[in-house]
Amino acid sequence: MDIGLFIALLNPTIALALGAAFLVLWSYQRHRPYLAVLGASYAASAVGFLLQYFTLPVGMVMTKLVSNLFFTFAGCCLSGAVVARYGRKVPYVGIAILAAGGLGSFCWFMFVEPDLTWRIYAMNFAFGGISLLVAAELRTVRNNGPTEMILFVLSLISGVNFFIRTTIIVTMHGPFTNYDGFYGSSYWTTALLSHALLSLLIALCLFTAAALDVMKALKTETYTDPLSGLLNRRGFEERAVSLLHRCATAKFPVALVLADLDHFKALNDVHGHAAGDRVIADFATKLRSACGVRGVAGRIGGEEFAALLPLSDLASARLLAEAVRTLYSAGSVDGLPPGTKVTASFGVAARTGDEGLEPLMRRADEALYKAKKNGRDSVRLSYERPEAMFVHEPSKTG
Ligand code: GH3
Ligand code: MG
Ligand code: MG
Repeated sequence: MDIGLFIALLNPTIALALGAAFLVLWSYQRHRPYLAVLGASYAASAVGFLLQYFTLPVGMVMTKLVSNLFFTFAGCCLSGAVVARYGRKVPYVGIAILAAGGLGSFCWFMFVEPDLTWRIYAMNFAFGGISLLVAAELRTVRNNGPTEMILFVLSLISGVNFFIRTTIIVTMHGPFTNYDGFYGSSYWTTALLSHALLSLLIALCLFTAAALDVMKALKTETYTDPLSGLLNRRGFEERAVSLLHRCATAKFPVALVLADLDHFKALNDVHGHAAGDRVIADFATKLRSACGVRGVAGRIGGEEFAALLPLSDLASARLLAEAVRTLYSAGSVDGLPPGTKVTASFGVAARTGDEGLEPLMRRADEALYKAKKNGRDSVRLSYERPEAMFVHEPSKTG
C-alpha cells in the first residue's frame, strides 16, 4: 500500500472511530450533550482529512476551503466541549474571533493573494490560538484531578504544536508555492502524525473523564435515598466512618444524633402512606438544614435518621436535637389535616477517644430507646463511657 495514502487515511479512520465511540456514549448519556459535540467534532475532522486527499467535483481550491471549514468546525466543537465538560463558561467570542480570523485569512491567501505558506500559517495559528484559549480556561481547574491536569497540558502542547512546529518546519522546508510535493513534505507528515497522536490522547482523556462522571453519578445514586434526598444507610456509614477518621486525626470532638419518628405506623394507617412519605421528606429537610454542610445526615431506616456532627460535644449535639424536635413538633406538614401533631424522639451520644461508628451508634440507639420509653417527643443522652477508655487511658493521678 502507498505509504502516503496509509498516513492520509490514518487520521480519518481514528477520528471516525472516536467520533462513533463518543456518539454511542452519548446515546446512553443523553444528559451530557458535550459527548455528542465531541462525536460531531471527531466526525467533522475525519471529513476534513479525507477532503485533503480526495478532491470534490467542485475543484481543488473549493475542496481545500470545504476541508478547512470542517477542520474549523471540529476545532470549535472540541474546544467548546472540553471547556463545557469542566464546568467552565465556553469562550464563544474568543473561539469565534479566532476561527473567523483563521478562515478569513485562509480565503484571502487563497482567492486574493494566493499563497500556500500563508494559508498554512493562517489555519495553524488560528487552531493554536483556540488550543491556548482552552488551556487558559482549564488552568483554573487543572488541580481538580488527573484528567483536568492532563487535558490542560495537552491543550498547551497542542497550542505549541500548531505555532512552533508549523513555524519551524515551514521556515526549514518552505516556502510552499503550490500543492506539488506538499503531501509528501515533512510539514504535512508531522502535521498528520502529531494530530493523530494528540487527538488520540485527548480522546482517551475525555473517555476517562466521561467514565469518571458516570461512576460518580452511579455512586451518588447508590448512596442517596430518593425520598428524603439524604444519604441512605450505606452512604451514611461510609461518609460517617471517613468523618470519624478525619476528626480523630485532627482531635476534633464528634457527636451523633439518632432520630426516630413517633407512632409512624399509626400515622400511615390514619393518613395514608403518601402522607407518611411527605412527613419523612419534611423531617429530612429540617434535619439537613440543622446539620449544615459540615455534618453528615442520613436516612438509615424507614423512619429513622442519623446525623454525625463534627466539632460538637454532647451539649451542643443535644441543643441541635432539641432544636429539630421543637421545630418539627411545632410545624405542620402539607397534606396532613391542620392540627395533626407529628413528633420524633432523639438519642444523642458524644464520641469518646477513638470510638468507632458501631459503638457510637449503639450508645445513641440506647439513648433513643430511653426517649421512646419515657413518652417520646424528647431527647435523651448517652452518658456511658466505652470500657476501652478506662482500659487504655490510665488515671492521671495514678
Ligand atoms: P415508635 O414511636 O415506637 O417508633 O412507633 P412507630 O410506629 O414509628 O414504629 P414502628 O417501627 O412500629 O413502625 C415504623 C413504620 O414506618 C412502619 C412502616 O410502615 C413505616 N415506614 C417505613 N418506611 C416507610 C416509608 O418509606 N414511607 C412510609 N410512608 N412509611 C414507612
Ligand atoms: Mg423505627
Ligand atoms: Mg418510629
